[in-house]
Amino acid sequence: MKILIVEDEHKVVDYLRCGLTEQGWVVDVALDGEEGAHLALEFDYDVIVLDVMLPKRDGFSVLKTLRAQKSTPVLMLTARDHVNDRVRGLREGADDYLTKPFSFLELVERLHALARRTRGQESTLISVGDLYVDLIGRRANRDGIRLELTAKEFQLLSVLARRQGDILSKTAITELVWDVNFDSHTNVVETAIKRLRAKLDGPFPTKLLHTVRGMGYVLEVRDEVRNEMRNEEVRNEIHEEIRNEVIEGVRLP
Ligand code: CA
Repeated sequence: MKILIVEDEHKVVDYLRCGLTEQGWVVDVALDGEEGAHLALEFDYDVIVLDVMLPKRDGFSVLKTLRAQKSTPVLMLTARDHVNDRVRGLREGADDYLTKPFSFLELVERLHALARRTRGQESTLISVGDLYVDLIGRRANRDGIRLELTAKEFQLLSVLARRQGDILSKTAITELVWDVNFDSHTNVVETAIKRLRAKLDGPFPTKLLHTVRGMGYVLEVRDEVRNEMRNEEVRNEIHEEIRNEVIEGVRLP
């Protein structure tokens, strides 16, 4: 999950960045309203945490700019003694609010709820061949065997799984898996793909993670496997038909 935090209090920012990163979230931070609006429009986040009191532009102004173009879920942070801020925030398109000071666990709960709500129809359990990725439980297994993945590897796998069949460029992967400060000139993506591939495909005969030369990476069941599965289905259907015929034949006088 990718989140943008728009907040100017360094203490709150550090606390949230640390806690959320530990839970496997990709965290971008904007320390003022202008930067916040820019990042919110430029990139796609699963959810945005938006403080009301900000330098350059306040949270309401950022929200207004964002809502003119995008429906990214927004949780607003309001001060305890500004009850009107909550009402105004919700009226102007915020999806939820929390009053400072707040508990980290409560914030995480709310963020998950918001991300789930917007995903709506999107399943939180994705399957690709014999691979199952549980986005909420943050687990993945193949052929019933649990894959031991680091937080980054899981994030990478879920990004690929949510867009299975689509070729993702290195730039797209960088954007979705790392934060904006990431230096894309390094070969971190290749290294991460290599590690993930070793765990995901290494022990299994069917490979799911493919490199498309000059374009990027794709997670999918390739045709030879699909054909094999189709053949298996056809074989089963034929068996079924034969069995039915036999049964009918027995029943007939
Ligand atoms: Ca503030």
